[in-house]
Amino acid sequence: MSFASIIAACEITGAQAVHPGYGFLSENAAFVQALEDHDIKFIGPTAADIRTMGDKITAKDTMKALGVPCVPGSPGGVPTLADAQRIGAEVGYPVIIKATAGGGGRGMKVAQTAADMEQAFHSARAEGKAAFGNDEVYIEKYLTTPRHIEIQVFGDGKGNAVHLGERDCSLQRRHQKVLEEAPGPCITPELRERIGKVCSDAVAKINYAGAGTIEFLFENDEFYFIEMNTRLQVEHPVTEAIFGIDLVREQLRVAAGMPLSFTQDELVINGHSIEVRINAEKLPDFRPCPGQITQFHAPGGLGVRMDSALYDGYRIPPYYDSLIGKLIVHGRDRPEALARLARALGELIVDGVDTTIPLFHALLAEEAVQTGDYNIHWLEHWLEENLA
Ligand code: ADP
Repeated sequence: MSFASIIAACEITGAQAVHPGYGFLSENAAFVQALEDHDIKFIGPTAADIRTMGDKITAKDTMKALGVPCVPGSPGGVPTLADAQRIGAEVGYPVIIKATAGGGGRGMKVAQTAADMEQAFHSARAEGKAAFGNDEVYIEKYLTTPRHIEIQVFGDGKGNAVHLGERDCSLQRRHQKVLEEAPGPCITPELRERIGKVCSDAVAKINYAGAGTIEFLFENDEFYFIEMNTRLQVEHPVTEAIFGIDLVREQLRVAAGMPLSFTQDELVINGHSIEVRINAEKLPDFRPCPGQITQFHAPGGLGVRMDSALYDGYRIPPYYDSLIGKLIVHGRDRPEALARLARALGELIVDGVDTTIPLFHALLAEEAVQTGDYNIHWLEHWLEENLA
């Protein structure tokens, strides 16, 4: 849908504000600007904050200046192959070359050694250009065994902000999240307090408004900032579950100029929550599998939430991401959440198209998943061994 049709819809219905969800208009500064020009409130941060964080180099510089720890790498953009080779040698291989406009796991290439640099540099630039219309790249040290830990922050736009702990999203395929949980299995209260405060202080300083996520790689008890998402995340329900808070309600309150409805001290973690992403994809190669749903049955009961728009006869359009539902469970602790997830997955029926449901049945039987002992590369290796 174009900006113009959304603005026309607001004018016809008298809508005062637009909630962007977490889709492709949720981090589009030009869209926010168009709404602002028509006196329609965007439920989220300012166009300026979205622009700053949307460019990964500017985002990193901003976070560094705010005291947030970052992955070592190039000080800014890397214009030529010769620069890339010099920085690769300085930072030490392996390194990752990233498109500054990248997102959704695209525009990133790893150079394991100096010999890989030429190919990786040119292909990251080409991918950035093709997918995002911008071929600027930068370089980071490639961490070999990190977990993906992200901190949920919330600001009132007036210099007050809190953090809502972390989510661990280390189970990834092609740099995309597959399963997310909160709290992180390896994050102690001390680590949470330390990184949480750094994040809430950082967003308070820039008068950030609404929900945001500061993403880190976590290795050897150290956090390294990789990017900030200036919107609600797909995986936000696990945070809602453990804090008993409706983050969308909070977004609406902040957009209406109201204060946050909780203080940092009132945010207390209760239990454990896990989300799995149900995609219309055919294993083993995860090919998108749009089509018509012949039968849909959602699981239920205590601690089970199914976020999905599916129904019997629903036709999945081929134009979008293949995410068709999210199954979220909550339990008193991680083992209870895992048991509940297995039970709920067993009840879930999505017929008519192939989905990632069988992947989760298989993953839940794995010891590493049961114990939470894995890093961001574990799933790729597991897929090679088990599905190839
Ligand atoms: P995107 O905006 O495309 O989501 P991110 O910068 O958030 O890109 O990175 C996505 C994922 O890519 C991370 O969760 C991690 O798996 C991997 N990644 C990114 N930077 C590094 C790095 N420096 N070392 C190792 N893996 C990385």
